[in-house]
Amino acid sequence: MGLLDGRNALIFGVANDHSIAWGIAKALHEQGATLGFSSVESLIEKRVRPLAQSIGATFVEPCDVQSDEDIRGVMTKWQAAHGQIDVLVHALAFAKREDLDGSFVDTSRDGFALAMDVSAYSLVGLVRAARPLLKPGSSVLTLSYYGAEKVVSHYNVMGVAKAALEASVRYLAADLGPDGVRINAISAGPVRTLAAAGISGFKKLYGSFAEVAPLRSNITIEDVGKTAVWLASDLSSAVTGEIVYVDGGFNVLGVPLAE
Ligand code: NAD
Repeated sequence: MGLLDGRNALIFGVANDHSIAWGIAKALHEQGATLGFSSVESLIEKRVRPLAQSIGATFVEPCDVQSDEDIRGVMTKWQAAHGQIDVLVHALAFAKREDLDGSFVDTSRDGFALAMDVSAYSLVGLVRAARPLLKPGSSVLTLSYYGAEKVVSHYNVMGVAKAALEASVRYLAADLGPDGVRINAISAGPVRTLAAAGISGFKKLYGSFAEVAPLRSNITIEDVGKTAVWLASDLSSAVTGEIVYVDGGFNVLGVPLAE
């Protein structure tokens, strides 16, 4: 008996088997969920479809979240294939590489708009398009990072986008709650992924994390997957609008210093 038997999940953001979205997918699958995937077109055949097939998923559709038409297309196909969405996972973000280096004050207008559109607005766009398919008991998840609330070197515009994402989670929770639909964010510690590789100085940040985090280790995509199961399932039935940390306790520290 899995915690998610008979439930289906539509997952946005798998790039490869290091992706946080893939950690979540594996965990939801282990608990009995039927999965479908959406990702940018260029990744579909080489990366996403083989991973989907490895766990018996057949729904794999391209989507650039900057396009409302693409988003509508995925939802229409999902409705035809599966009807409702029990679990919607938004695990994606993007900013120009030059905006993840140097000083935040140098962020360009278009770089700011791009990061906000892909990394924050896309959650609103996805949820709005998915709304007719979200039913009482459905759960929406997104991914955030501590740089939303404290300054993290080089995280820059992505920190501002994550702050907007976390605020969006709260506003969406208020909108969707009366329909019995929940939405929460997981704020994950640093994980070595394709997206993280674009952040200047990530290696250093990742390397020192385990020395200072209370649990003294880096977090894994499997750690995130386990919390995703909790948030996707009825175990978290009264939890919505929250930012849940999967960071080995890092966020509780005032002045993180290695011993
Ligand atoms: P990843 O590179 O594996 O995934 C990022 C995904 O975003 C990719 O699949 C990419 O295709 C997708 N994407 C980018 N632009 C898109 C667009 N226009 N349309 C559709 N998809 C688009 O990296 P990840 O680290 O697994 O990132 C997943 C989420 O986790 C992101 O929101 C990221 O900010 C967040 N996060 C990452 C870390 C970390 O340290 N890696 C920590 C906390 C939160």
